[in-house]
Amino acid sequence: MIQQVAVIGAGTMGNGIAHVFAQSGFKVVLIDVNPTQLERALATIAKNIDRQVSKGILTEEQKETTLKNITTDTSLVSGVRNADLAIEAATENLEIKLEIFRELDKNVSDSCILASNTSSISITKIASVTKRPEKVIGMHFMNPVPIMKLVEVINGYATTKEVSNTIIELSKLLGKIPCSVNDYPGFIANRILMPMINEAIYSLYEGVAGVEEIDTVMKLGMAHPMGPLQLADFIGLDVCLSILQVLYNGFGNPKYAPCPLLINMVTAQKLGIKNGEGFYKYTLGSKELVVSDSFNK
Ligand code: NAD
Repeated sequence: MIQQVAVIGAGTMGNGIAHVFAQSGFKVVLIDVNPTQLERALATIAKNIDRQVSKGILTEEQKETTLKNITTDTSLVSGVRNADLAIEAATENLEIKLEIFRELDKNVSDSCILASNTSSISITKIASVTKRPEKVIGMHFMNPVPIMKLVEVINGYATTKEVSNTIIELSKLLGKIPCSVNDYPGFIANRILMPMINEAIYSLYEGVAGVEEIDTVMKLGMAHPMGPLQLADFIGLDVCLSILQVLYNGFGNPKYAPCPLLINMVTAQKLGIKNGEGFYKYTLGSKELVVSDSFNK
């Protein structure tokens, strides 16, 4: 039975994952090599819980219990010692993830399940550096984790049905809706989303339409809550590029080749909302984020 959860990586996703587990009564150890990230994550979780309290989603008492359920550690070795499940949500970099999984495999109990929140890296590849590939699985949460309902559950080549079912049932306990998929490049979410974003960037690059027009067509015409270019800014253009490269290399199919405009923007460090400019510019006004089309110069 899963009671203790270790979350490795306390960035955007790690803090959200720790939050939802703690809110559902699990004991969570949030681990990061960078202590500043741990402080930042705790502050973000507290702020997000306050928002839930003000909306009547959580009581003050539930807030206290949720916060008490989370401890932090800068050491993976001590942080994962009592974990029944370890979820890795560290930087999207193959070498970093392989090293974390080698360490996890050595330091967790034999029964511990190892999950990755990776957006695109092969679960089968990650599992291959452990001695327990049957207990390695993808648990792909969406951003922002406390709000988004989907968990894409990715079965690696060796993942057992039992482990997959455990993660599916666990996701339901968190109030999420799990979808089980197999381990091929981009899984389902990004295999379908990224070519759409890439096509939107190609349409801009070829001068078919402007940023606002492309996003408006997809919002009003297809009932998407956000246009593909704004969504790319939200995800991070560097992240989009790296996922497209995984699709391109993984399938060897030119249809996934990243648009040259995307490559140029990432090279120029126009990464989207995270550093203030992508397809839109994001400046802090007196109260809210002001968004303007950065191609409309
Ligand atoms: P992030 O850059 O915000 O956070 C990554 C964290 O990992 C950082 O705090 C960093 O200090 C930490 N880290 C790096 N190496 C580490 C190590 N060896 N041990 C412990 N911590 C380490 O990244 P993110 O956006 O939270 O993404 C994390 C994972 O989630 C990635 O695999 C990403 O593909 C995936 N993901 C991201 C999103 C998204 O929208 N951001 C959505 C779904 C999945």
